[in-house]
Amino acid sequence: MLLIGEKKFRAKQIYRWLHVKYADSFSQMSDLSENLRAKLEENYTIGSLKQVKKLVSKIDNTTKYLFELDNNCIIESVFMQYSYGNTVCISTQAGCRMGCTFCASTLDGVEKSLSPSEMLSQVYEIEKDKGETVSGVVLMGSGEPLDNYDNVIKFIKLINSKEGKNMGQRHITLSTCGLINKIYELADEDLQITLAVSLHAPNDMIRNRIMPVSKANPMDKLLQACRDYVAKTNRRITFEYSLIKDVNDSAENAKELAEKLKGLLCHVNLIPVNDVKERDYVRSTNEAVKRFEGILTSRGIETTVRRKLGSDIDAACGQLRKRYKDEKR
Ligand code: SF4
Repeated sequence: MLLIGEKKFRAKQIYRWLHVKYADSFSQMSDLSENLRAKLEENYTIGSLKQVKKLVSKIDNTTKYLFELDNNCIIESVFMQYSYGNTVCISTQAGCRMGCTFCASTLDGVEKSLSPSEMLSQVYEIEKDKGETVSGVVLMGSGEPLDNYDNVIKFIKLINSKEGKNMGQRHITLSTCGLINKIYELADEDLQITLAVSLHAPNDMIRNRIMPVSKANPMDKLLQACRDYVAKTNRRITFEYSLIKDVNDSAENAKELAEKLKGLLCHVNLIPVNDVKERDYVRSTNEAVKRFEGILTSRGIETTVRRKLGSDIDAACGQLRKRYKDEKR
């Protein structure tokens, strides 16, 4: 603000308009002088996302959004209602370059790493659209958050700021496909967020097949990084495990996973994967899911099967965005 010769407290006022009242124009900032509003109008713009599609579940109010960014990239965000509050799943990149074979977000690579404000806008736009408060965020939409590290850290600090939305760090979950070096970097940030690591396999042989990123980030080193992360932050880690029929859902797979996670402060989230036509992946049967869960639990690994939200607007992660882009082409 020094640039335009204003007092410091003006910055606080403007910050509040942007991050608490979600103003989308400077003219709304009624406690600023007309002169200052004009100066802001002249020198700055307020970024916004254009909503291009919205699907609302009639069953549980889960709402999927497609937003268009300034450079025409399309991103997907999801609003979810839980008994403990509303959560938004945001994208951190348009597309992704990690290449997980069960994920549609990666089919065209990464088009853009999102700025902190593009991440914040997903939350703010959804709050405005739904007319409801969002109390939690999961960074689990398209993109690998740790591949857009600096912007993601800025986003977390902004959404957590007392002068702004003031979202507790414990209500923020960052999901990574397991970039070991970045997990060590994150451990040094002194954040209280929840780290979710996408494991999806009990060993490198299976993991290499479904997650190419694992070749450079082998499982023993990844799990060591997770142990070190827990030791440094005292925060429990969540492991995401998508169950794919006849790929990673056998009893042997469950036993091997339980053995590897023994003694680690963690929680396993089992996700019966959505069918992926492009890859011939089929959802595990209910019996296989139950068996997998039972084996982990009986070996002392805290495990839950992710509840399926919005089944009537069902679309696997990234599929909605892909379909929209294909139609446009
Ligand atoms: S699952 Fe996540 S990390 Fe893997 S390709 Fe999809 S968006 Fe990227």
